[in-house]
Amino acid sequence: MFDDYQFTVAEKFLRYVQIDTQSDPLSKTQPSTAKQKDLSMVLVQELKDIGIVDAHMDEYGYVYASIPSNSEKQVPVICFCAHVDTAPDCSGSGVKPIVHNNYDGGDIVLPDDITQIITPAEHPYLEQKRGEDIITASGTTLLGADDKAGVAVIMDMANYFMHHPEPKHGTIKILFTPDEEIGRGVDRVDLKKLAADFGYTLDAGERGAYEDETFSADGVTITIHGISAHPGYAKGKLVNAIKVAGVFLDSLPKDILSPETTENRQGFVHPVHIDGITEKVVLQFIIRDFITAKLNEYEDFLKELLGEIIARFPGARAEFAVKEQYRNMKEILNRFPQVSDYAKQAIQRAGVKVMAMSARGGTDGSRLSFMGLPCPNIFTGEMAFHGKHEYVSIQDMQKSVETIVHLAMIWEERSK
Ligand SMILES: [Zn+2]
Repeated sequence: MFDDYQFTVAEKFLRYVQIDTQSDPLSKTQPSTAKQKDLSMVLVQELKDIGIVDAHMDEYGYVYASIPSNSEKQVPVICFCAHVDTAPDCSGSGVKPIVHNNYDGGDIVLPDDITQIITPAEHPYLEQKRGEDIITASGTTLLGADDKAGVAVIMDMANYFMHHPEPKHGTIKILFTPDEEIGRGVDRVDLKKLAADFGYTLDAGERGAYEDETFSADGVTITIHGISAHPGYAKGKLVNAIKVAGVFLDSLPKDILSPETTENRQGFVHPVHIDGITEKVVLQFIIRDFITAKLNEYEDFLKELLGEIIARFPGARAEFAVKEQYRNMKEILNRFPQVSDYAKQAIQRAGVKVMAMSARGGTDGSRLSFMGLPCPNIFTGEMAFHGKHEYVSIQDMQKSVETIVHLAMIWEERSK
């Protein structure tokens, strides 16, 4: 199918990464930075140029577009989704992408800052990329493969179908979102307008990677109240909330249940913010596990521990509030097994081995899944993201294009 296809994914990617689309967590606007629209406008124009007439960007910077069905069957509408913004952690302005053709397996020294060296020792996946064409930044910025690799893959999929009317598929929706990196990627998405049944984000790493599972997440706010008094006349009266908080934090488990002591499928409780004075301290925790019921266990544990500590300080008291943040998308995807079945078959049809993975975090897909659009995550080849050592293999991006073209066709084949 792809033997005589001229992939456009690399050429597109090299152009998109040169457009600065960094998002800003401190901004109150939507999108958080107006420059994200610079790329979104380019995408709309390119979609129109290949004949996708309904492509448009809304006031919040979301791009919506549809590839019409060419099938007689009733095919569920699927959506491919990627984010246009890059992480605030590292500069995204003046990105100079460099193609390292036929990568030789050695260290890659980035020319604009020769202290920046991408080594297979630090990035073992690079070992497998020998002979492929690797794209990096030049040493002073991130590359932006997260997630412009996903954007370029979807654009090339669109290009493929618009130039090859023979392969059958249902309606395919395209969605590009702003502000994913600052956690606001789906705040203003219009799922009614999108009108898709199932979605896939293109935002995972290694070739073959497939994520249909994320953490479940709660936030806990603990407020410790002490009793303040003039320190010169405080004997027998003062109860210092700061000291109570200190003892409580010190009593947290040292060897388990923290991000620094867990991996794979283990969950944790994690203090992320502290703010206070003698009279009152507010502690913020995040609680994470793949099994939602475990969040309750961890919260009960924290609450009990807090009660024990508070009891040691007569006069002190505490409040404990839990707020749901997001849930493991697998809870939703389990109801629609075909979403993952077809995706895995598509990866295999592209000649790639499936690597099922769990995201130790949340994704826009987990929020979309609970908003009514079941939405696992498919590989693009983006690696070492959010930093100057970010890289992507052109051949990985091409395999990602093949995967989602096959995926749209499998949905059509399995429909009646
Ligand atoms: Zn991303």
